Amino acid sequence: MWFMEEVGELAAALRAGEDREHLRHEFADVLAWLATLANIAGVDLDEAVEQLYGSGCPKCRCCPCACVAAKP
Ligand SMILES: [Zn+2]
Repeated sequence: MWFMEEVGELAAALRAGEDREHLRHEFADVLAWLATLANIAGVDLDEAVEQLYGSGCPKCRCCPCACVAAKP
């Protein structure tokens, strides 16, 4: 639940156009809670990200992903 709360705070900050420092804080909170949940679930987050995204986006292979930009 705290993770979802932090995601909500990040979404609100992005939507409100908050400054970079505020966004840094919200992104860090989301990442910290995501890492905590992965640890609790016994998932090696570094390994999972490397396996899925180590070569860029699984669809377009770009990094950062270009899929959103390609959508109409
Ligand atoms: Zn992509």
